[in-house]
Amino acid sequence: MPEYISTIGLEIHAQVRTASKMFDGCSADYAGSPPNSRVSVVSLGLPGALPVVNARAIEYAALSGLALNCTVNQRSIFSRKSYPYPDLPKGFQITQYDEPLCSDGWIEIRLASGATRRIGIERLHIEEDTGRLIHADDGSSLIDYNRSGVPLMEIVTRPDIATPEEARLTFEKIRQILVWIGVNSGNLEEGALRCDANVSVRPAGQAAYGAKVEIKNINSFRFVERALAFEIQRQIAVLEAGGVVTQETRGWDEFRGETVGQRSKEYAHDYRYFPEPDIPPLVLSAEWIAARRAELPELPDARRARFESGYALSPQDADLLTLERPIADYFEAAVAAAQAVGGTPKDVANWVLNEGFRLLKERNEPAVRLVERMPVAHLAALIDLVARGAINRNVAKQVFEASFDSGADPARLVAEQGLTQISDSAALASVAREVIAANPRVVAEYRGGKTSAIQYLVGQMMRATRGQANPQLARELLEAALAAEQ
Ligand code: MN
Repeated sequence: MPEYISTIGLEIHAQVRTASKMFDGCSADYAGSPPNSRVSVVSLGLPGALPVVNARAIEYAALSGLALNCTVNQRSIFSRKSYPYPDLPKGFQITQYDEPLCSDGWIEIRLASGATRRIGIERLHIEEDTGRLIHADDGSSLIDYNRSGVPLMEIVTRPDIATPEEARLTFEKIRQILVWIGVNSGNLEEGALRCDANVSVRPAGQAAYGAKVEIKNINSFRFVERALAFEIQRQIAVLEAGGVVTQETRGWDEFRGETVGQRSKEYAHDYRYFPEPDIPPLVLSAEWIAARRAELPELPDARRARFESGYALSPQDADLLTLERPIADYFEAAVAAAQAVGGTPKDVANWVLNEGFRLLKERNEPAVRLVERMPVAHLAALIDLVARGAINRNVAKQVFEASFDSGADPARLVAEQGLTQISDSAALASVAREVIAANPRVVAEYRGGKTSAIQYLVGQMMRATRGQANPQLARELLEAALAAEQ
């Protein structure tokens, strides 16, 4: 049985977060609006309506291109892509074809193995979104044009992706970057970011690519990986059986866990692209492009590298802390506040990743909620309490959770609930004697040479003090008492 090589390319459609639509002043903020309430003569494609390019959409698309290491072309043109479909009121989509806004970029993905791979970006172009068809139970179809004309970026990767895992990581990385620079909401469920995947399979050693199958409209990261894994196996099975893979468009049926044929490419429409006569070529000066470059924030990969080297974090921790920009900003602000009271970056990373993310997961809340749940000042106050020895680590975890849930200042919680660590030797020494008296069997084991038995006795002291004993002191007092009574 020959080995097979799979080749994958992605086409990602990302809505641009502008206030108005791509070619007129009609509101692009349609979420939750009644059907057909965000429409205009332009977005409905009424005769005689003329498109005017949305400058902010061009700025955001150029910024995106730069963030994806593309060249922003000083000249690009709009074209008409003709196809008859009810969700497209004009009968054509205004898009960019042979002269896109951005071209020749790349991103880097990091595999589970830790290895990195560079994935080429062929182009990023601007177009308009379509309306939405809603198929009713009675067999009729309804149309909502609120989405018609919303600005879209289409981002096309090179066929550099070898596995379903790499495809998912590429989609995730592009989402991370677009959300990071503020041009896209990243909301896959609402369709603000959608992915089509092209995949072909060929026997190892064969130079020519196999027939390409396009899987349309995948709206989750998990589905991208599952759909491609299924489709690669399906194509290999066809080839193994001596068959021929048909070039076609398929959809992913998550319920059945398989891809389903939709239409054959042989009968694909001829889109009859031609330059849009109502929009002049888009010409950008070198100065304008340089100004966009100057607006770019530090990007996630650069920030991750800086977190690793500047704060001595592990690659895994640096990765988690730079998934989203508000979390990265929060972390850096918390480090500054914690260092002022004797804490370290590692202390902050541990609180955020261990306790913070754990509680968010338990409460089913997104990571960015941590910024409100545990303001920087509260996290720094908690780190201060631990650094000063006012509370021990176990109590600190309880205080973190109480503060996370109530919004109360940790210092106030400790004062009000009397949680201050007991570091009074006289008080703890009497607890140590009680614990020794109550556990003769463990004490005998300890004296018999099993020194690890002391852990149990320390635990009993913590229990007797509602977790408030200074554990180091408790251990020392136990050791001293056990030695003295011998
Ligand atoms: Mn498109």
